[in-house]
Amino acid sequence: MTSDWQGFFKLIEAKNQFIVTCHVHPDGDAIGSLLAVGFLLKKLGKNVELVCSEGVPTVYTFLEGSELIKKERGPSLLPEVLIAVDCAERERCALAEEIWGIPGLIVINIDHHITNTGFGNLNIVDSQAAATGEVLLRLFKEAGIALEQGVATALYTAVATDTGFFRYSNTSSFTLELAATLVKEYGVEPAKVAEQVHEQKSFNSIRLLGEVLCTLKVGVGGKVAWMVLDQEMLNKYPVENEETESFVNYARSIEGVEIGILFKELRANEIKLSWRSSVNVDVSKLAAYFGGGGHARAAGCTLNGPVKKVVDDVLRFVAGFYEAR
Ligand code: 5GP
Ligand code: MN
Repeated sequence: MTSDWQGFFKLIEAKNQFIVTCHVHPDGDAIGSLLAVGFLLKKLGKNVELVCSEGVPTVYTFLEGSELIKKERGPSLLPEVLIAVDCAERERCALAEEIWGIPGLIVINIDHHITNTGFGNLNIVDSQAAATGEVLLRLFKEAGIALEQGVATALYTAVATDTGFFRYSNTSSFTLELAATLVKEYGVEPAKVAEQVHEQKSFNSIRLLGEVLCTLKVGVGGKVAWMVLDQEMLNKYPVENEETESFVNYARSIEGVEIGILFKELRANEIKLSWRSSVNVDVSKLAAYFGGGGHARAAGCTLNGPVKKVVDDVLRFVAGFYEAR
């Protein structure tokens, strides 16, 4: 763990123009953390732009300030500092590529992915933290910065979504303590967050789930379960990217299954894999083999080729992985 908070505050003090971004295909941790850093910088009187090239998934638009997140940076601000939250690598930042060419741009990388490449000039990466929101909560607590209910709710959402609402193995007593503080001191309403995130699904997303579940298969001695989501299904039931995020959990939830995989056809010959695992397997290593990364229990990568070929290749690789163990 590196946590150079002194360096962080020193740097922030000296600069005025900031741009903050998160990873592509943003989730609750990405959006919640983005809002929290925006809150901090505004509180310190800085000029700040919040950018996520894909916009905010509808499910997170209930978060206060989410309307301030823009798809592109405006022309008026020339950033001196770029802060990336929840991004394991520079290439996953939800920003136009030209940003990296700005002369003298200082990059701050705040994250919790074990596969983080340390791409910042300053890196604050805690792979023990359940979420980037947890890393930030620790900062706010240690620096004695009071939160408002809106930003507290954003941070609660960040931690809740990355821990599967406090069910996954990354949930520590510290995670629960931080969440409790948010509820007790800042008026966060857990039931409201859960309702917004889980009880507002679109009709299409549930019908799409039905189609995807029909593709469910189990193999490799019952240890691996996988499902396919192709363009034909998406054309039949159009949904936002974020709405398919939880589908892979059904594969992992089967008794005896250690690895769940969702193969999602983003476009012809471009297949995004979502990997989920139980306690026995570190899927970040398997995803990294295919050029991706993530966490031990949740990882991702993208492969090129027709769906069927990608499925066959990946399953052969996973079978080989088990044989070698
Ligand atoms: P998901 O399956 O929900 O897209 O991703 C699960 C986890 O793996 C997330 O923490 C996400 O940031 C990470 N992840 C997903 N796709 C990639 C990828 O292509 N490269 C890397 N390094 N991480 C990924
Ligand atoms: Mn995260």
